[in-house]
Amino acid sequence: VKYVYTWGAGKADGNGGMKALLGGKGANLAEMTRIGLPVPPGFTISTEVCTYFYDNSRTYPVSLQAEMEAGVKNMEKIMGAKFGDAKGMPLLVAVRSGARDSMPGMMDTILNLGLNDETVLSLAAATKNERFAWDCYRRFIQMYGDVVLGVQKAEGEDHEPFEVVIETFKHETYHKDIIDSDLTADDQKELVKRFKALVKERTGKGFPTNPWDQLRGAAGAVFGSWMNDRAIVYRRKYNIPAAWGTAVNVQAMVYGNTGETSGSGVAFTRDPANGKNEFWGEYLINAQGEDVVAGVRTPENVSTLKAALPKPYAELMKVRTILEKHFTDVQDIEFTVQEGKLFMLQTRNGKRTAAASLKFSMDMVKEKLIDWETAILRNPAEQLEQLLAPIFDLADVAKAKTLATGLPAGPGAASGKIYLNAERAVLAEARGEKVLLVRTETSPEDLRGMIAAEGILTSKGGVSSHAALVARQMGKVCVCGAGGVEIDYDKKTVTAAGKVFKEGDFMSIDGTSGKVFGGELKTAPSEIISGIVSGDKAAMATEKFKGFQQLMKWCEQATRMSVRTNADTPEQTRIALAFGAKGIGLTRTEHMFFEGDRIDAMREMILATTLEARKAALSKLLPYQREDFTGIFTVLKGLPATIRLLDPPLHEFLPHSKEQQNDLAKKLGVKVETIIQRVSDLHEFNPMLGHRGCRLGIAYPEITEMQARAIFEAAADVAKKKIKVKPEVMIPLVGFKKEFDLQAEIVHRVAKEVMSEKKVKFEYQVGTMIEVPRGALTADQIAENAEFFSFGTNDLTQTALGISRDDMGAFLLPYVENDVFAKNPFATLDTTGVGQLIETAVAKGRQTRPDIKLGICGEHGGDPDSVVFCHNVGLAYVSCSPYRVPVARLAAAQAAI
Ligand code: ADP
Ligand code: MG
Ligand code: MG
Repeated sequence: VKYVYTWGAGKADGNGGMKALLGGKGANLAEMTRIGLPVPPGFTISTEVCTYFYDNSRTYPVSLQAEMEAGVKNMEKIMGAKFGDAKGMPLLVAVRSGARDSMPGMMDTILNLGLNDETVLSLAAATKNERFAWDCYRRFIQMYGDVVLGVQKAEGEDHEPFEVVIETFKHETYHKDIIDSDLTADDQKELVKRFKALVKERTGKGFPTNPWDQLRGAAGAVFGSWMNDRAIVYRRKYNIPAAWGTAVNVQAMVYGNTGETSGSGVAFTRDPANGKNEFWGEYLINAQGEDVVAGVRTPENVSTLKAALPKPYAELMKVRTILEKHFTDVQDIEFTVQEGKLFMLQTRNGKRTAAASLKFSMDMVKEKLIDWETAILRNPAEQLEQLLAPIFDLADVAKAKTLATGLPAGPGAASGKIYLNAERAVLAEARGEKVLLVRTETSPEDLRGMIAAEGILTSKGGVSSHAALVARQMGKVCVCGAGGVEIDYDKKTVTAAGKVFKEGDFMSIDGTSGKVFGGELKTAPSEIISGIVSGDKAAMATEKFKGFQQLMKWCEQATRMSVRTNADTPEQTRIALAFGAKGIGLTRTEHMFFEGDRIDAMREMILATTLEARKAALSKLLPYQREDFTGIFTVLKGLPATIRLLDPPLHEFLPHSKEQQNDLAKKLGVKVETIIQRVSDLHEFNPMLGHRGCRLGIAYPEITEMQARAIFEAAADVAKKKIKVKPEVMIPLVGFKKEFDLQAEIVHRVAKEVMSEKKVKFEYQVGTMIEVPRGALTADQIAENAEFFSFGTNDLTQTALGISRDDMGAFLLPYVENDVFAKNPFATLDTTGVGQLIETAVAKGRQTRPDIKLGICGEHGGDPDSVVFCHNVGLAYVSCSPYRVPVARLAAAQAAI
């Protein structure tokens, strides 16, 4: 097996397609080399070595060392320098971790590896730049000491130990804050001495001097970091399998810290926050790359690079075009300029906000970089909701005083109670609070807090700081580098424009403008919602709105499945149709009983002890239901509506407090004891498996009869107004064919009666919800009379897993932490288990009735992964809540491409 893949001087073993084996960074370094971009040579140790490492009690394949030696030789030849050379110019290397996707928690990069007390002298001599050589050595000891040797902040320490040494030195020597690049060669020498002493003190061992020991140590640390806590938390959040492993990249150093004609930067080929076609990023003169993101010095905006370093800037602009053409997507790049010469150190598809995704994809179709199908795929379905998320109410913002302004790093509006550390933020979120995480800057340790927060505010750091990167990726609202915000961790206060906020006080941030406000600001719907739901003209004129509509139009062209909605009212239906729903997939009739004083008639029905009394109560409910359906059919204008008959256990409708029971007794003129008795009669040990669904209609056929009558009378009335109607009556919780037949008979009979009474004909269907395993397994029998199936995946998951959705909270966390579930099965369909039941029911249903209509109406209908599954098993539609309709449409279109 080949474990090491080299690149350099225009040639590479690997290429951009080999991300699984080489990791994202390594594969793209190879690819950039192949297309002739200036990339320093190097090699990738493949992810297979990582797998080997963990399978073989942390040891390496025997052939690895020889392959690495060949890789180093290749670099030496191209660079004209020798690894560990104490006489001539030494080859120094960067050791860089390389998962498929860059991952917080993975080992930090180590630069300038190969230096020791001898090679630092040969480096100084060869470059005639002593300050530079010792700056490299000082940085190397610091990075290696921290990352590989674990010389880090101990418990109770506030600052990184190496930083403490530097600060102490600076104040002893200069009595003030000075920037690192102002340190002299002698200063750096002194720091090297102190750093080595620190390493000795903390680890009990000397700093490794042999370059090969250093290299093996660093590579081992990269592989080791794959299993550290932070990496594990991150993988869990993003569902990255541990089995993927990481690669290690070893690359010849180029130097951004040799003086004023050198520098390092990070950039995006276009703006990843708002999507504008503008080069975007930051750089520092006379610095190595880590400085730009570490927030030690505040970086310059890349727009000034043209004036600072015109030649490399011009070259960078060429590279920008080449990269976008080659990868046909916006790139996130890292570069270094060494004495006026540009080097590319990384490229990858840039992480972006949903708004930027939308604009990139629309622009790139116009520029003919991509076709419209690709444009659909460029908009992640799970991110789409960001575009629909609220913005601050304009009136409220106009009134609010801006306390500070930072960089707009993650667009959107967020208000929340401020917390100054991740732990307290997590606890507050668990209590149900809306949280704003406020930090001077964030580090990977803050990840849990960032996940818990609505928004993130930092007082330091640029647009490529950790906070900004992570926020953009998670779609969190983020303002960073708000210099006017002062944070006191000890007092747990935040001060801005003279106002003091304590932990738990509300603050608000606007991640689109970068503004920071005190208190809780009102939010308003996004332009897309305003345009679609309220028909707001100004909103409809925005580029965002138009882009969104174009995207949805393309989705319509691509999709095979349609999307319906779960709606109980005409208004919900109207909104869903505006979002492109093709009908209703689920109307829950019982929701209608909770409106106004309808519940009284419902309760009267439940309390009735004779058939006559029950019928009398039902006849009071009938007009309400008819009215609801009339409204819905009118809005639907001929689109289908699946209407589910009464489903929940009757117990849910009864009053449970003493007070309510007294009230009801008075209203109905019965003794309160009667009510108490009935409540206790109806009590069930396991209501979700109790007297509910079609079991109600079988015990009380008059309920089914009333509901069918309400549906069909409404259908008849609306049909008479020359509006097409398509009711689909759905019998819930069917496990036996007979259950279905008993109920369907009533429905058909009532349909016939109503048509002849009202002298009008309309189409309708009777079908069932497949939501218990027996129903799925005997779908061939049920399909003899059922004209459609709708998969009720909430109950189907509940019954298939034998897990109560409402009681799962108690063990969800340990289940997710122990990888029992990859995701909450009530949010994302368990395709392996529940999915089999669906597949079986689909196959058996079609066997009996080849044209049977199939859909899904559980919560899963709006979950992108589940939608893909539904497409693959051949369902005709998915149904979800109105505001999820665009997400489902996008996921359905993507599944079809
Ligand atoms: P990350 O994944 O955290 O971005 P990288 O491996 O990309 O880590 O390294 C971080 C920074 O280190 C780069 O942006 C670059 O500035 C610097 N760096 C990496 N490799 C080299 C190299 N061969 N020469 C000079 N600087 C480098
Ligand atoms: Mg990088
Ligand atoms: Mg159900």
